[in-house]
Amino acid sequence: LLKKSEFIALDAASTLSGVRQRFSIPDGVIYMNGNSLGAMPKSVGDSLSAFVEKEWGQDLIRSWNVNGWYVLASQLGEQVSRLIGAAPDEVIFSDSTSVNLYKLVVTALNIKSQRKKIITDTDNFPTDLYILEGVAKSFGRGIEIEVVDRKDVIDCIDRDTALLTLTQANYRTSELYDLQEVSKAAHRQGALVLWDLSHSCGAMPIDLNGANVDLATGCGYKYLNGGPGAPAFLYVAKRWQEQIDQPLTGWMGHKAPFAMSADYVPAEGITQMLTGTPPIASAICLREGLSVFDGISLTDVRAASMEMGKLFIELTDDLCRDYPLSLVSPVDGERRGSHIALRHENAYALMQELIANGVIGDFRAADIMRFAFTPLYLRYIDVWHAVAVLRTILETESWNKPEYATRAAVT
Ligand SMILES: *Cc1c(COP(=O)(O)O)cnc(C)c1O
Repeated sequence: LLKKSEFIALDAASTLSGVRQRFSIPDGVIYMNGNSLGAMPKSVGDSLSAFVEKEWGQDLIRSWNVNGWYVLASQLGEQVSRLIGAAPDEVIFSDSTSVNLYKLVVTALNIKSQRKKIITDTDNFPTDLYILEGVAKSFGRGIEIEVVDRKDVIDCIDRDTALLTLTQANYRTSELYDLQEVSKAAHRQGALVLWDLSHSCGAMPIDLNGANVDLATGCGYKYLNGGPGAPAFLYVAKRWQEQIDQPLTGWMGHKAPFAMSADYVPAEGITQMLTGTPPIASAICLREGLSVFDGISLTDVRAASMEMGKLFIELTDDLCRDYPLSLVSPVDGERRGSHIALRHENAYALMQELIANGVIGDFRAADIMRFAFTPLYLRYIDVWHAVAVLRTILETESWNKPEYATRAAVT
């Protein structure tokens, strides 16, 4: 077991240790919730000031042209493309992950127009499941959604499967799918594959082109640090772009929005996936989040995150072994995303007390605490402190407070 001084030494030796200065992290806070809302890059302050004082404040509507507002969605797409192994013209930012899922699922059904089945797993993120329900209800032609256990996913794909859609890193357990293997299994049956990368993009290298992925989307405000409600990206492989037929045909996806014609004619390529006017203030925050990745290797980020996770597991095994905590995530770092879930029957109260003591993770019903390992701004020594605080809270039972009996609206 490593000693405290050795955690400090790991920080000193880390190739990423300077990156933390680019984020706003309050003193006394150990932020372990980057899988839910990434920390704020400090440069957001200047960029939003420029937006307020100059761009919107002075240049007003001219900013669409002179300050690049109009091309921001595709520029951000180019920025994220290298983080997910896509070509720059295969990715664009638009709407939320939920809305993009809707557009992409319908696109897949229109491409595979002879097939009726969509497969996903029971443990997928709720919005993914809800959107599929909504598609089945509104799309017609007897679409069936098969929601199956993750171990049965591959066996369920058959010649009637239009689409397999999954989230790469499970939001609760952190368990990863093998993106390449699972995509291959879908393709063997002639199905398309749509990956939700919300819990993996920005946390690890992803190679969409290498895995021959058809469609993908992912969240801007988690590991990409784009701020609350940041736009999400969507990816359509080049080979399908000629066949895009998406349902939310708004003017920003039109070939010539300012021709103001009465008929919809889709733009070329990925641009036709757009719908309406993007939220520019939010996109500016996201630009700063993505800029942090310039010159940074996701291989380094991933390696440090796995190492922090391993140390966290070893420390909790040792310091908290007398308490009824259990590890929900895979022990093998290669098989999990960048967060770790621990189960405890009083998980909600425990997490509230951790937060009150400066260790910010989160709670997921029914009994799970999540801790994210984001080496861009989390230090090894923070991991040491977090477990020490957890141990003290368990030992003193300070989590046992009446105010933790009722849950807040957002957990
Ligand atoms: C966070 C997350 C989302 C969020 O969707 P929104 O539309 O931004 O609310 C979707 N899917 C997964 C897997 C997520 O982790």
